[in-house]
Amino acid sequence: MTQTILLVEDEPSIAENISYALSTEGFAPRWCRTAGEAREALASTDVALIVLDVGLPDANGFELAREIRQAHDVPIIFVTARSSEIDRVVGLEIGADDYVVKPFSPRELTARVKAVLRRVKPGTRAVEPGPAGPRPGRQPAMPFTLDEARCRITCAGRPLELTRYEYRLLAALIRSPGQVFSRGQLMELAWEEPDVSLERTIDTHMKTIRQKLRAIDPGADPIQTHRGMGYSLKEKS
Ligand code: CA
Repeated sequence: MTQTILLVEDEPSIAENISYALSTEGFAPRWCRTAGEAREALASTDVALIVLDVGLPDANGFELAREIRQAHDVPIIFVTARSSEIDRVVGLEIGADDYVVKPFSPRELTARVKAVLRRVKPGTRAVEPGPAGPRPGRQPAMPFTLDEARCRITCAGRPLELTRYEYRLLAALIRSPGQVFSRGQLMELAWEEPDVSLERTIDTHMKTIRQKLRAIDPGADPIQTHRGMGYSLKEKS
């Protein structure tokens, strides 16, 4: 199935180059010049990913992203003109999945589009932003609350002090209780550049997450190790 990439960019020459590169890679680019057009397109089209220019004529890309995030669970790659904007993007306060800085090659962008789409497979972002628990139907053995907007997890009502990677790993497990993840899958879900880290680091992080959960309930061990396979979050029996 052809995936639609929404391209929100007011500079025609840039938009043309990106659109061309995306279509040669088998994507269906849809170009919008303004935030207004982007809103309309999102309301009527099934969009796989958004490439969003920060400087738009009728809105700031950050604000538009925040607005989009409230209604759509779609990955966003920011296009920024100034490196001074990168800090905000990288701070991930807006929840960017990646970014490129102008000038960039269309090829670089399409590579990032493909990488983000690979990472954001269906089901891995199923939890709504804001305070939320796991999906209905499958319940983890311990009562977790996942607040993706604030990157916080509470267990039995108590907030966990987690590092960035611990948060991402535990969040991935909480989104799919019972599902067994391989270390490779967990790396894909939690690391920006999975290749640069060793899968053994997953074990180290799981160990510290377990210690933190034991501090809440010494008898509980909700994370299960599957020999030769990976990890899962124990379901409520
Ligand atoms: Ca612009």
